[in-house]
Amino acid sequence: MDGYKALIGLEMHCEISKTKTKVFSSALNDYNDTPNANIRPLDMAFPGTLPVVNKKAVELALKASMILNCKQPEYMYFERKNYYYPDLPKGYQITQETKPAPVGIYGSLTFDYKDEERTVRINNIHLEEDAASSDHYPTFSTIDYNRAGVPLLELVTEPDLHSADEAVAFLETMRSIYQYAEISDADNRKGQIRCDVNVSIMDENLDETDPKNWGTKVEIKNVNSFAGVRDAINYEIERQVELKQKGEYDKMEQQTRRWDEDTFTTKFMRSKVDAIDYKYFVEPNIPKFKISSSWLDNIRKSIPALAPERKEKYMKTYNLSAYDAKILVKDKAISDYYEEVISLGADPKGAANWLTSVILGYLNKNELEIKDLYLTPKMLVDLMQMTKDGKISSKQSKEVLNKVLEEKKEPKVIVKELGVSQISDDKTIRDIVVRVLDAHPDLIIEHRKGRNTFDFFVGQVMKETRGQANPSLTAQIIKEEIDRR
Ligand code: ADP
Ligand code: MG
Repeated sequence: MDGYKALIGLEMHCEISKTKTKVFSSALNDYNDTPNANIRPLDMAFPGTLPVVNKKAVELALKASMILNCKQPEYMYFERKNYYYPDLPKGYQITQETKPAPVGIYGSLTFDYKDEERTVRINNIHLEEDAASSDHYPTFSTIDYNRAGVPLLELVTEPDLHSADEAVAFLETMRSIYQYAEISDADNRKGQIRCDVNVSIMDENLDETDPKNWGTKVEIKNVNSFAGVRDAINYEIERQVELKQKGEYDKMEQQTRRWDEDTFTTKFMRSKVDAIDYKYFVEPNIPKFKISSSWLDNIRKSIPALAPERKEKYMKTYNLSAYDAKILVKDKAISDYYEEVISLGADPKGAANWLTSVILGYLNKNELEIKDLYLTPKMLVDLMQMTKDGKISSKQSKEVLNKVLEEKKEPKVIVKELGVSQISDDKTIRDIVVRVLDAHPDLIIEHRKGRNTFDFFVGQVMKETRGQANPSLTAQIIKEEIDRR
């Protein structure tokens, strides 16, 4: 990068989707419903309504704070961030800004990046409410308040990331944590994750631990996909390096830009001098409350095995390669599916092969999620069992699986319909073998003289059974029957 290095800090917003109701009202936490179906007077900011803190939302937020090795507050309180927007009817957002209010401050997260470990310092993680969402049409706009008051976690990192790919690896790790810890589905496609990305560049020979050496940051607001984060960072680094080369970087003002998906560029929105003064103050309608250490202990105990622990287990207990284990734990739903298959008695290595090769390939190709897969863990186990018992060959099992997925019928039904079921019955095969040998006494003599006629016999049996005879059993019986003569 021509003697420069990038510093990147992320503000990652993730909706908490694992509460039943919103963060301050009793409306359902489900905004993908019919517009304005899940709203209570509070979400519309009706006069006289008061917020009631959702305990579960606080618990999940504290859980995230613990996983990120943050310090939890002794007393928790909320603050008002004042600004006007049509999708914010109160004229302020309830959030947590000044320390020590946030559910977590001063933590760190270590994550894998290209076979290396990286650590990012976490400045804070705080709990807040989401705003409503609006849609704009040529002559009018609509507002859907279902999202107003959905609990939102905002995580702020220090500028410890250095490339677009590293930033995305961090975000993927966070998504996995939210999913495994059952805090959120963290589903980008539902807009549950949105990021503000801060980028600056500095001379690569200077000490980055001293903030005086940092360049002027540019904030890119509201990027809503990981691909967008990657592209926006790469574009912004390039733009800033160009400014440096033209001698203009040091004159550049701290500014907010947005990622424009149509032109693949960042666009200027406002400069620091136009920064909005949100006039934060403590939210007077929610009294400070104490976070007891016994409550924290219980939350800590509720943290389940996260992706790295499952990966470890897959490698140590199931003997999977690091590569396969990594693929299986990447998405919690897939890892859960895999564990169910094993709990139903399947061989862990065989099940991993089915998943990583055929099934994930099918999901990717068809842009499906594992929850949409017709093949249940039980069906996969049935299919593996039929193969193991020799009812079908391993080649046939792939054909059966494809048909199961295509025609949405159980493996057993497909096996019957295809008539592919392999013949593994000793007597049936032996009868055919005897007939084949009887018809070719000359070739048995040739065989004894050392000429290879064995494959011919196997071929004849296969021909008679239309390829359905179990190959290893057939070979064994031919050998036995020749030896007996
Ligand atoms: P502000 O007061 O403008 O909100 P903060 O200090 O709170 O700025 O930082 C907001 C985000 O910007 C954090 O994620 C932080 O890591 C990041 N950040 C701060 N300075 C820089 C910089 N020089 N380069 C890149 N990111 C930065
Ligand atoms: Mg800030």
